[in-house]
Amino acid sequence: MSESTNFIVTIERAAEILRQGGLVALPTETVYGLGANALDPIAVARIFAAKERPFFDPLIVHVPDIDWMPRIVSEFPPVAVQLAERFWPGPLTLVLPKVTAIPDLVTSGLPNVGVRIPDHDLTRQVLRLANVPVAAPSANPFGRLSPTTAEHVHRQLGHRVDAILDGGPCRVGIESTILQINEDGVTLLRPGGIALEEIEALIGNVNHPVSTVSESPIAPGMLASHYAPRTPLTIVNEIPSTVDSTRLGLLALCHVGLSHQFAQVEVLSPTGDLVTAAANFFQALHRLDAAGLDEIIAVRFPETGLGKALNDRLQRAEHRGVHRHS
Ligand code: AMP
Ligand code: MG
Repeated sequence: MSESTNFIVTIERAAEILRQGGLVALPTETVYGLGANALDPIAVARIFAAKERPFFDPLIVHVPDIDWMPRIVSEFPPVAVQLAERFWPGPLTLVLPKVTAIPDLVTSGLPNVGVRIPDHDLTRQVLRLANVPVAAPSANPFGRLSPTTAEHVHRQLGHRVDAILDGGPCRVGIESTILQINEDGVTLLRPGGIALEEIEALIGNVNHPVSTVSESPIAPGMLASHYAPRTPLTIVNEIPSTVDSTRLGLLALCHVGLSHQFAQVEVLSPTGDLVTAAANFFQALHRLDAAGLDEIIAVRFPETGLGKALNDRLQRAEHRGVHRHS
C-alpha cells in the first residue's frame, strides 16, 4: 500500500485495483464504502485489517444490477423482488441465503449474505467494469464515525487504502436499512436510509427484534457502541436551560433557542426535515468531534421516518469517556 493515497478520478483505475485484490474507497448514496473483491478472501481480509474490524461483523456485498443476484444469493423470493423493484438502486440491504462462491469471511460464517445495489452512478460503473461483486463496509476505522465525504476517508483511513474515488458528499448520509428475509418473514436488522413506514406500506408488517442495539457479538453491526465520535456524547430530550461547561457542542435537528450556551452548534435542518438531517448527520458529528469540545449534547430526533435511524445512530454514538474502540 502506498504512503500517500491516490485520489483517483478514473473509474477504470478503481476497477483495475479491485480486480487485482486491492482496496478502494467508493462513494455511495449512504456513506463511503471500503471496497474489495468479495470473491477473493485475501482481498476481503485486507478490509478487516484496514478497519481493525472484528471478524464476527459481516460485510455487505455490492452489485451494479439485479441480474447479478444469482452470483450472490441462492434464493430471491417474491418479497425480495418486490422490495428490489421499489427500492434498488438505493439504501436497502437484503440478507438472503448465500451461494457457496461467497467466502465465509464475508458473512462471518453465516449461511446468509447481505446484498444491495448502491444508488451511485460512478460506483455502479466501477462494479460493472471490475465485473466482481464488491464487499464494502463503511470506510472508517471500526466503531468510529462513518465517512460521508472523500476527505473523511482520507483523514481516517487514507494511509490504509490503495485509492479513494471521490464522488462528492453522500446524498442520503446514513447507512442502509437492513432486512433479513427467511421462513419467519421479513425482519428489520438495522434501521437506515429507507424509512420502515415506506417498507411496511409496500409489504405489510416487518418483524422487529426487541432492540436493534445490543452488546452481543452474534448480532453484528448491532453493537451498542458504533459510529461514535471520540468526544463524549450525551443524548437529551430537549436542550438544557443551563449548562455547566463552556466547551459543549450541540447537535440538534432544528430548535436552537438556548444555543448561546454552546461553543459550537450544528443544526441539521432549519426546517426540521429528517431527510436533510440524515444527509448532514455524520458531517456535523465529524465537525463537532474535531472542535476540541468537552462533550457533545445531542437532541433526540422524532421517532418517525428517518428519525428512527438517526436515533439508532445517536444511541450507538453515546458514550461518557475515552472511546472503547480507539
Ligand atoms: P456496514 O458496517 O455499514 O457495512 O454494515 C454491515 C452490517 O450489515 C453488519 O454489521 C451487519 O449488521 C449487517 N450484515 C451484513 N451481512 C449480514 C449477514 N449476512 N447477516 C446479518 N447481518 C448482516
Ligand atoms: Mg460501519
